[in-house]
Amino acid sequence: GAQDTAFRVYVRPLDTSVLVTFVDETSLEQAGQMRRDFVANVSHELKTPLTALIGFIETLKGPAKNDEGARDRFLSIMETEASRMNRLVSDLLSLSRVEAEERVRPTTPVDLTGLVKSTIHSLSTLAEDADVQILSDLPDEPAIIAGDEDQLRQVLVNLIENAIKYSGAGTTVTVSVGPVSYETRLKGDGIRLSVKDSGAGIDPVHLPRLTERFYRVDSHRSREKGGTGLGLAIVKHIVNRHRGRIRIESARGAGTEVTILLPV
Ligand code: ADP
Repeated sequence: GAQDTAFRVYVRPLDTSVLVTFVDETSLEQAGQMRRDFVANVSHELKTPLTALIGFIETLKGPAKNDEGARDRFLSIMETEASRMNRLVSDLLSLSRVEAEERVRPTTPVDLTGLVKSTIHSLSTLAEDADVQILSDLPDEPAIIAGDEDQLRQVLVNLIENAIKYSGAGTTVTVSVGPVSYETRLKGDGIRLSVKDSGAGIDPVHLPRLTERFYRVDSHRSREKGGTGLGLAIVKHIVNRHRGRIRIESARGAGTEVTILLPV
């Protein structure tokens, strides 16, 4: 009688009795529902820019055919919409790749200190354009874990880009790396990687759902900033693959800190 549960019932007559078997298919049913939701979300996310593109193409072929000013304006909107679709498809590919690899443990030694430095360097233009300063708090020596360098770079890029995107001009983002005593099934030492911003922050009610695909606190703001709603979902899968943990702390108006704990 419980809600949101799915059972399959098998009835088999025996000689003097009946065998009734209940198979709990709740998680199977939930997985199916999640897949249907995901397909609906992807279709919607792709259809919105496509509809805009088709609308502008029709206007350019018809009413705005000889209007040069309108043509330039429309073309630049079309470029924005096409770039949005491009980013969405790239993120979908990343997500499907990291999900497929999630069970394969990464084994290459990666120096997180060096990785943070080179990632900050590669994002310096983005930060300058947004007038956000990126600071770092790093150990002098390398911080080595067994990992997948490209994926760990992607984690850093997604977190730093979010910190820049959701903070105002004149603010600071701090990326830090440090040792931490790490407790999981395998107790031991780990490395803490954190990205802290002094932006608008997130209302705590949203925190548990932020790593879900397409979950956004403010859809309009995310879209306006070029977000796909997949960044933190990708981060979560990569962190899982590294047997790490992710913690997001934030309060409205007080900035956000995302901390990732990775076992050495
Ligand atoms: P998006 O592409 O929308 O940024 P993400 O999965 O990266 O998608 O993030 C999900 C949502 O979490 C964002 O839409 C935003 O509402 C919120 N968010 C993520 N990082 C931050 C941050 N540093 N400050 C404020 N809000 C954030």
